[in-house]
Amino acid sequence: AFDVLVVGGGPAGAAAAIYAARKGIRTGIVAERFGGQVMDTLGIENFISVNYTEGPKLVASLEEHVKQYEVDVMNLQRVAAIVPGDLAEVKLENGAALKAKTVILATGARWREMNVPGEKEYRGKGVAYCPHCDGPLFKGKRVAVVGGGNSGVEAAIDLAGVVSHVTLLEFADKLRADAVLQKKLFSLPNVTVLTNAQTTEVTGTDKVNGLVYKDRVSGESKRIDLEGIFVQIGLLPNTDFLKGTVELSKFGEIVVDAKGQTSVPGVFAAGDCTTVPYKQIIIAMGEGAKASLSAFDHLIRTSVE
Ligand code: FAD
Repeated sequence: AFDVLVVGGGPAGAAAAIYAARKGIRTGIVAERFGGQVMDTLGIENFISVNYTEGPKLVASLEEHVKQYEVDVMNLQRVAAIVPGDLAEVKLENGAALKAKTVILATGARWREMNVPGEKEYRGKGVAYCPHCDGPLFKGKRVAVVGGGNSGVEAAIDLAGVVSHVTLLEFADKLRADAVLQKKLFSLPNVTVLTNAQTTEVTGTDKVNGLVYKDRVSGESKRIDLEGIFVQIGLLPNTDFLKGTVELSKFGEIVVDAKGQTSVPGVFAAGDCTTVPYKQIIIAMGEGAKASLSAFDHLIRTSVE
């Protein structure tokens, strides 16, 4: 059996595996796709101590670092279920099952997409999902934020300090964000809020040059010229397979304490799939390291051999 079995091969999972292997204990990683969201990222400018890197390059370094240690990497394998116990059973979609004394869940999350023409095509060419990551790239330019919940309104307030103008589009007839955020938003001079606005298309040439939306009251189609679109309609944790196994928040995030412990003893979690706020690479790595040290602590207190 593994001492530590990590599920997920993004920054959180890679950090967890390295920290575990450095304790000289039997460590494995099962990942559907090693690298996780970082594989889909173009420029990265906020991974501290590295001025600029690109997703695939960072993933290659992660892989290289993991390979320095005795880590059993099982890539392109999806976990279908976890059965907790003294020895947890980690069931793979291919029918195989792995046994582990401790499990670290680091399955990440994915941004909910608008699914409109142009969105995929211009992803990374004006269509963005993370204001903390990509906001500064639009300095002095015009952007839209799609989504009027807390994350959309926070993004619009954040971006308004960097870009020249923000248009926030909300599908419903009013914003869903907390009142205090709305108050702040409406106080900003360079923000326009459009409600009853359904984004229908992202337009561009080599990069984004505009957005088309349907005014849901008049039924009219309207166009806005802009350089960037931040989609803020939800972040979906990859935790469906854990329903009924570990406690999840109402957003589907794995509930963890300050040590990365889940509701099930011996099962830890880290990164974007958890309740820890601010979904960022540097945070996921720190959380992965932390969950791994907690797993080790659990092992020295519970296992006899
Ligand atoms: P992930 O990176 O999502 O990794 C999850 C891992 O779990 C993957 O290996 C996946 O295949 C695996 N997995 C999922 N389900 C299963 C399963 N059932 N069985 C087995 N394996 C499974 N952050 C920054 O700090 N700076 C940036 O500039 C930046 N830009 C971004 C740009 C884009 C386009 C996106 C999408 C994200 C960006 N982020 C950025 C956010 C950052 O990528 C995430 O915060 C970070 O990758 C989270 O790491 P993680 O290890 O928790 O999860």
